[in-house]
Amino acid sequence: MKQSKYIRLAADLQSDSIVDGPGLRAVLWTQGCGHHCEGCQNPQTWDFEGGGLVPIEAVKEAIDELEYQTGLTFSGGDPMYQPEACNEIAEYARSKGLNIWVYTGFTYEEVLKLAEKKPIYREFLDKVDVLVDGRFVLKKRNLNLLFRGSSNQRLIDVPASLKKGEVVLFNEYNYNEEKYFEREPMFV
Ligand code: SF4
Repeated sequence: MKQSKYIRLAADLQSDSIVDGPGLRAVLWTQGCGHHCEGCQNPQTWDFEGGGLVPIEAVKEAIDELEYQTGLTFSGGDPMYQPEACNEIAEYARSKGLNIWVYTGFTYEEVLKLAEKKPIYREFLDKVDVLVDGRFVLKKRNLNLLFRGSSNQRLIDVPASLKKGEVVLFNEYNYNEEKYFEREPMFV
């Protein structure tokens, strides 16, 4: 596996989010996005040279310091532009009992295409519980949607989708709490 020593981030690791997936979550705001969606709430995260380069070891240390978090969400920016670094951090976070959600402007199918050329995308996907996929589409914005901004975006159950060979949606209203909380929250 190709190792990456740094990840480019837009901000420090955030904790206690309740809007980026179920439970109390840490959020890693990656820097860099090439999708440039109209109406994007975080255009300051587009610049691939912006934000700051942070050692992955420092992110791991920040994860070690988390308390009462049930999951880690990768957002941005688009984490898929830094698959090696995100993969390593996701692996570490999982080892600490956190479930993994990832927001990306790529569709699930596009990520699978990327994985055909760069296996690191599949390695990263294998560690993801839910992928919130697709660009933000202003005309499809809907404030009533849970955990996403526009109706074209999907909450995808990644393990089930990879197993079945087709998209299986995460059931946002009836998700299996035992599955998502089977790993004890950290340091409770
Ligand atoms: S994918 Fe997300 S971060 Fe990138 S431009 Fe679209 S809304 Fe903004």
